[in-house]
This record gives sequence, structure tokens and C-alpha cells, in this order.
Amino acid sequence: MSLLLFLLNLLLGSYKIIPSLFMDKRLLGSLVIILFLAIYSCSYQPYRQANKSYKRQAKLYAKEVRRTPSLFFTTQNNPLYWIGTTNFNMRKPNFVIIHYTAQNSCEQTLRTFTLPRTQVSAHYVICKDGSVHHMLNDYLRAWHAGIAKWGNLTDINSASVGIEIDNNGFEVFTEPQMKSLFQLLDTLKLKYSIPANNFIGHSDIAPSRKADPGKYFPWKTLADSGYGVWYGDTTNVVVPDSFNSVRALRIIGYDVRDSISAIRAFKTHFLQDTSCILTEADKKVLLEVAERSL
Ligand SMILES: [Zn+2]
Repeated sequence: MSLLLFLLNLLLGSYKIIPSLFMDKRLLGSLVIILFLAIYSCSYQPYRQANKSYKRQAKLYAKEVRRTPSLFFTTQNNPLYWIGTTNFNMRKPNFVIIHYTAQNSCEQTLRTFTLPRTQVSAHYVICKDGSVHHMLNDYLRAWHAGIAKWGNLTDINSASVGIEIDNNGFEVFTEPQMKSLFQLLDTLKLKYSIPANNFIGHSDIAPSRKADPGKYFPWKTLADSGYGVWYGDTTNVVVPDSFNSVRALRIIGYDVRDSISAIRAFKTHFLQDTSCILTEADKKVLLEVAERSL
């Protein structure tokens, strides 16, 4: 109670007022409630439970890493020995997959990624004001790609960092978002030696299921800075009669089991067009990109 009185004194600026407060119990009660709400709002952390859960899971995985492989399997006839090598480090991401959130606010996405029932996550979320939320250690596997394929790689989550950009899919990306994205890509590329061609979008790796980051995403600007493949002037490119569009898409990395969707994904990425018909001009671009992907 003495602490409360002291705080009330601070609030009211004078010790002389306190005695009169006791005369008016309703006023005193109101002040106590206001004080409680002020303290509560200062300490309120909406993601406290999620952060606790993160630490708990990270501890379990650390325990798993410390186990010796002899516990993993047994052999029938031959003895199994465990000798720890001295030469190793952690596996690292080799791809960056870019998404839009398809949601209406950053807050909504942060909440989605901290609810166990949603079963989705990403390493980073970039809000419209350019603020970046790091949600998972880059060495751990986020659940952002889903069923996906790029070349022969089918477990994209294990090989990649996922970046979600707050965007509902029908709007341009903001300048602060792009600025933060470039800083993040720069850091990731340098830290993990990620090849330029391995900066791709969700629709590239899951063309029949996903459309993000969509036609408004500035892939050319990214490619100009070394994130992703792009093409040069196609004026003098001659497409041979024998040109096989599906094979070219496969060379780039697209899953062509659904070739129409693969064409749409290619055009969304390289031509900012969501149609699924390849014109002669489109084929020139496809040929160029395929050659740069070899
Ligand atoms: Zn996505």
C-alpha cells in the first residue's frame, strides 16, 4: 500500500492531496484501476506465449542434435560404432523464397504464424513501414513452401529461408518494404553464399497452387542487384523451330507436370502478366532465361 501511495503521490504531484483521497473512496478506487491498467498495458506482451513455445521447441531440437547417431538405428549382424568427427558445422539455407502474405495487415500475419493450428510460418515478415520481424533462426526449417518443387529439389523448406512481405496481392509493395528487403537479401546472400539464381518466388516453386509474390513484385530490380536471374535485350534473339517451351521451363527449374500453370508462373515472374499463353516475344524471353539458368 505504501508503494501505491508513493505512486499516487508521483501521479498527483503532491503529498498533501493524498489524505483527501481517502475521504473520497470512489476517486481512490478509480485511480487504482487507472494505475493498474497503465502498469498492465506497459508490460503486455501479446507474443509472450509464442516466444516461450519457441524456446521450448528450440531446446528439444538442441537435445536432438546432441544425440549420437548410434541411437538412430541398429544393424543386424555388424557392430555399429560411433566416433564423432571433429570437422563439421551447421547446414545452411541455399535458397530464398519470397512471398506476399495475402493478408490485410502485418499484425494478422504475425498472429497467423504464432498460432499452432495454422501450421504455417516464415523466417522473416516485412511490414509496410519497412519493419522486419525475424520469427525463426535461419538454420531451422520454417513451414512456408508447402508442397513445392524446383528442379529436382522437393523439400524446399529444408533448403530455404522464407520471406513474407505484407501485401494482400492487389497492391504495389511499399518503398520502405523494398528497402528492408534489399538489406535482408544482402545479408542472407553474403552470410550463406546463396547463388543469384536461387532467389525465387513461391509461385515459381508451386505454380499450380500459389500466385505470390505476384505481378507487382519488382523481380527485375532485384535481379539488377544480383538477386534472381533476368534476361537481356531480346530484339535479336532467334527462337529455333525446334524450341521446346516445356523443356525450357524445366531447365529454369519449374515443375512442368502442370505446364499451363508453369507458363503462368513464368509469365508472372518475368513478364508481369498472369496469362498462360506464350507469344513469340514471350518465347524469346523464355529462351534467354533458360540459357542463363544452365
Ligand atoms: Zn507464399
